[in-house]
Amino acid sequence: MSETNNAASVTFDDVRKVYLDDFVAVDGFGAHIDDGEFITVVGPSGSGKSTLLRMIAGLEEITEGDIEIGDESIKGVEPQDCGIAMVFQNYALYPHMTVRKNMSYGLKLTTDLSAEEIQRRVRETAEMMGIEDQLDDKPANLSGGQQQRVATGRAIVRDPKIFLMDEPLSNLDAKLKVHMRTELQRLQEELGTTTIYVTHDQHEALTMSDRIIVLEEGELQQFAPPSEVYNEPANRFVADFIGSPAMNFFDVELNGTTLVGNGFEYDVPSSIVDAIPADAGLELGIRPEDITYDATGDNTISAVVEVVEVAGSDNFIHLDIEGLECRVRVAGGVKPSVGEQVNIAFDPDDVHLFDASGENLLAERSDRATPVETEEAA
Ligand code: ADP
Repeated sequence: MSETNNAASVTFDDVRKVYLDDFVAVDGFGAHIDDGEFITVVGPSGSGKSTLLRMIAGLEEITEGDIEIGDESIKGVEPQDCGIAMVFQNYALYPHMTVRKNMSYGLKLTTDLSAEEIQRRVRETAEMMGIEDQLDDKPANLSGGQQQRVATGRAIVRDPKIFLMDEPLSNLDAKLKVHMRTELQRLQEELGTTTIYVTHDQHEALTMSDRIIVLEEGELQQFAPPSEVYNEPANRFVADFIGSPAMNFFDVELNGTTLVGNGFEYDVPSSIVDAIPADAGLELGIRPEDITYDATGDNTISAVVEVVEVAGSDNFIHLDIEGLECRVRVAGGVKPSVGEQVNIAFDPDDVHLFDASGENLLAERSDRATPVETEEAA
C-alpha cells in the first residue's frame, strides 16, 4: 500500500448545512485542500466540525453548495465509492470480532479483493501499526492505545484517498495522546494520504497540521498554516482560541500615538497608528509569552502580582493592572511574592490590535516562531 500515493484534493464550494429544525450548522464554507495535506479542523464544541466531516463522508446531506473530491462532486456517489475512510472518537470497533476480522471486514464487504490479498493487507498494516501480535484478540482485551491503532489500521487497510478523523485521540490519557499524535503524523507522512482531522484541542491543531481550519458557529474564521494562525490571527476569535494560556486583551483608545487603556498608557510606533481607522473601538492583544516581565525604561506598565502559577519549566504570573487581569509567562525560576509591584513591557512587534468587529488590524507579521516550533528546536 505504501508504494501507491493515492491522495486527492478536497474542495468545499460555498457549503451550507441546515438541520431539520432549521438550525444552520455550517454556512458559506469555502476551502480547497491540496493532495496529501494534513488539515486539522478546530473550533469549540458545536462549531460545526463534525458536521463538515460527516458531509464529506456522505453521512449528512449537503443542504446547499458542493464538496468535490478531486474534480468530482460527491453528490450522488455512494460513500464507499469516494475512497474515504473514517476514524471515529469511540473507534466503533465490532466487539465480537477479532482485530483481524475488524480490519478485514470492510474490505470484504466493499471490494472484490481476494481473501489472500485482504489478509496480506491486514498483516502489512498490523505490522505498520505495531499490533501484529494482537490480530487474534478481541477489542475488549486491548488497551486504549491498541484499540486506537486497530481503528486507524482498519482505515489504512482500505487504502483510501482521504482519511477523515473525528477526535480520534480524545479517549486516550495525556501521555499516550502525545505518543499517538506523533505516530499519526509519521503515518500520514509515510502514506501521503490527504487527512482531515477534527479536534477541539488547539494544541493538537498547532502541532499536527500543514494547515488549520478554524471554525466558529459554522463559519470559517481562518484557513492557514499553524504559524500564521498563531502569529497573525485573522480576528479576535482566532487570537483567543489558539494559544494556551490565552492571549490577554485590553480595551484601549488611540490618543495621538498612545494607546490608552484603563490604568495604563502604551506609546506605539507610527506603523501601528497608521493601521488604525479614525473611529475604531479597539482592543489590544498580547500573548502571555510575549510580555517582558520586570522591564525597565520608558513605556512600561505598572502591575501588581496576584497569583503565581507554578507550571514546571515555566511559571504563569497573574498580574493586576488597575483591576484588569494580565497573564505573563516567565521562566520556572521566577517566583515573585504576591502583592509585589512590577513593571512589564510589550514589544510593538508582538502587539495585536482588533477593531470593534474583531478584525485584526495588524496581521501579516509572521517572523516569530510558534510555541510548537520553539519546543521542537529546544
Ligand atoms: P462540533 O463537531 O464542532 O462539536 P457539530 O458539527 O457536531 O459540532 O454540531 C454543530 C451544531 O449542529 C451543533 O449546535 C449541534 O447541536 C447541531 N447538530 C448536530 N447534529 C445535528 C442533528 N442531527 N440535528 C440537529 N442539529 C444538529
